[in-house]
Amino acid sequence: MTSILLGGGAVRATTPKMEDFKYPVDRFADMEILRYRVPDFEALSLKQKELVYYLSQAALEGRDIFYDQNNKYNLCVRRTLEAVYRNYLGDRNSTDFGHFTTYLKRVWMGNGIHHHYSEDKFIPDFSSSYFAQVVKSIDPSDLPLSKGESVDQLIARLTPILFDPKVYPKRTNQVQGVDLIMTSANNYYEGVTQPEVEAFYGKMKNPDDKEPVSYGLNSKLVKENGRLVEKTYKIGGLYSPAITRIVGWLEKASTVAENDKQLVVIHSLIDFYRSGDLKKYDEYSIHWVEDLHSLVDFVNGFTETYGDPLGMKASWESIVNFKNIEATKRTEIISANAQWFEDHSPVDSRFKKETVKGVSAKVITVAILAGDCYPATPIGINLPNSNWIRHEHGSKSVTIENITEAYDQASLGNGFVEEFMWSKTEIKRARDFASLTNNLHTDLHECLGHGSGKLLPGVDPDALKAYGSTIEEARADLFGLYYMGDPKIVELGLLPDKEAFKAEYYSYIMNGLMTQLTRIQPGKNIEEAHMRNRQLIASWVYEKGKADKVIEMVKRDNKTYVMINNYEKLRILFGKLLAEIQRIKSTGDFQGGKTLVETYGVKVDQPLHNEMLERYKKLNLAPYRGFVNPVYTMVKNNKGEITDVTISYTEGYIEQHLRYSKDYSVLPTFN
Ligand code: ZN
Repeated sequence: MTSILLGGGAVRATTPKMEDFKYPVDRFADMEILRYRVPDFEALSLKQKELVYYLSQAALEGRDIFYDQNNKYNLCVRRTLEAVYRNYLGDRNSTDFGHFTTYLKRVWMGNGIHHHYSEDKFIPDFSSSYFAQVVKSIDPSDLPLSKGESVDQLIARLTPILFDPKVYPKRTNQVQGVDLIMTSANNYYEGVTQPEVEAFYGKMKNPDDKEPVSYGLNSKLVKENGRLVEKTYKIGGLYSPAITRIVGWLEKASTVAENDKQLVVIHSLIDFYRSGDLKKYDEYSIHWVEDLHSLVDFVNGFTETYGDPLGMKASWESIVNFKNIEATKRTEIISANAQWFEDHSPVDSRFKKETVKGVSAKVITVAILAGDCYPATPIGINLPNSNWIRHEHGSKSVTIENITEAYDQASLGNGFVEEFMWSKTEIKRARDFASLTNNLHTDLHECLGHGSGKLLPGVDPDALKAYGSTIEEARADLFGLYYMGDPKIVELGLLPDKEAFKAEYYSYIMNGLMTQLTRIQPGKNIEEAHMRNRQLIASWVYEKGKADKVIEMVKRDNKTYVMINNYEKLRILFGKLLAEIQRIKSTGDFQGGKTLVETYGVKVDQPLHNEMLERYKKLNLAPYRGFVNPVYTMVKNNKGEITDVTISYTEGYIEQHLRYSKDYSVLPTFN
């Protein structure tokens, strides 16, 4: 972290550069842990910093809820492992202790005993006897023993949970044909069958209700004395100690709300946490979606339902963020010039829109990740989930640019570009511009590409059938690619110079012709629409530019590389393909679309595919990534008044989790 010393000894911090961070923060199993930075946190007002601080505290307080939702033994497992990790006095350099530490890191990553992505239970690389030995070696008062439970009983209870692959094999089972509730290891239901759950909620739903609440969202369904009972997550209900703390911080946050609308948002969320009433949740969601003018914003609550095989129960999550004003300005500039882009596009004028409106996307900077958004996180959010609220009141859709920045930077530092890019020129361009051009291409794709052009009268929007989404994605990508190389982009201040667009052109073509094949299983063809579209574009321009050697595939030391010799001609080819794709779309030319996709987008060159897989494997990259959060500290003067909130980026993965378990862990081991 760099600091600038001001007159009078005051220190003003500035956001560190991505390159200043050690990469990765940690690496274990199939994971690498990254750090993200929070640009412009220092530029917030004191009140806004305080708001971020209180909301961050409210976010961290929910951590144990998510562990318990994932499996009823997760808190017991985590607390036992952490007690050993903190207190074990035996050989901490042994192979077994190394395996033990890796397993604990995986439990933190999965918020429990299952993999965060595959949802399969992972099995330790140490033995159950080693587990018993280390647990017995520490002071029993450090262990999460239930009332009257002995250490041996605790070990006996946890051994199958950790070591038996048949016990709780899958967190959320989606494989049809069995009872999805009984075969899922998560803790949204207990002692009930899928038909019982379906009957229970089926009775509640009224098909004539135009504004249905999200039934079952915030409760666990259990059987008590033969009857089904919902145990609601609320103050005085299930998870009360953690929710009480969350509400305490939300109350503090309400004292520094930016405006009345935001105050209503916070108050309505508190009402919901107090009552557990799903009508109140809808009221909160409506206020939240209407709050468009606050700089600071947040998600805090039972939100996404992917963890419930029936899609009703929501996992707890939180994100605190503030608007990235610079990046949002970028999308506003693009939108404001939407008509210019439409008028100047290389497509036939019959297929252009007379009046076009760009969409301006909000870009945010995330300040804390928690619950189901931590350590693995989404790069965008689109909420609320309730269909009628989306329809009546709209939704908020945001992209999280400081997270995509961290991903981009990590990819530049892991040897990938050195392995696959042709020369130092392309690598340097990628380092200088790739993050910027990647974001700009996404903006052009989303804000303009999909909204451009029109169908001729009478053309069926579904005429392209199974080829429709590949053609549509290609159209949006090409619109972006074509304009990235236009001088207008530099003129509008969207790129710093005329060379920058080449970073996007090169990485797009390299990916489409070669490196995306690393994500395809050996012997398979390309099925996914985005991947088909990328290969379609790259191989079409490669073939059409062959006579002029616009792009060449060259060998060096028996490795294949992409060389781009003429970026101006490449841009013209992008324009030609855009015109053809728009014609196919506008006229509903099914045969034309089919031929393009099947000729260029589907088939995989087997020898090249094998080469890509081999070269990629040698890089030994981690398939999954998670994050550590920055640390916020409140600064007070000797009168006890808050004078600042500082941010630091030094906490490691282990330290962070141990601290969270100490400071934000008020739930009982079993709930
Ligand atoms: Zn798209």
